[in-house]
Amino acid sequence: MIELRMEETSAKGGRKHFCLSCGKDIAVIKDSVIFKCPNCNNEIARCGKCRIKGAEFTCPVCGSVGP
Ligand SMILES: [Zn+2]
Ligand SMILES: [Zn+2]
Repeated sequence: MIELRMEETSAKGGRKHFCLSCGKDIAVIKDSVIFKCPNCNNEIARCGKCRIKGAEFTCPVCGSVGP
């Protein structure tokens, strides 16, 4: 899985992304990432805090669960 750094992604799009695990704006949390669901290519955002915790994500589009 390819993880894009938040800075690179926001520079292109400028859209706000919210952590899928805790719902916070990932722009204010360090080490946040945005990546594509391996199953349906939906964009999934996760904040640095939830990454450290190792919280699982569930894709809201296809329901696929991943680390
Ligand atoms: Zn989070
Ligand atoms: Zn998906």
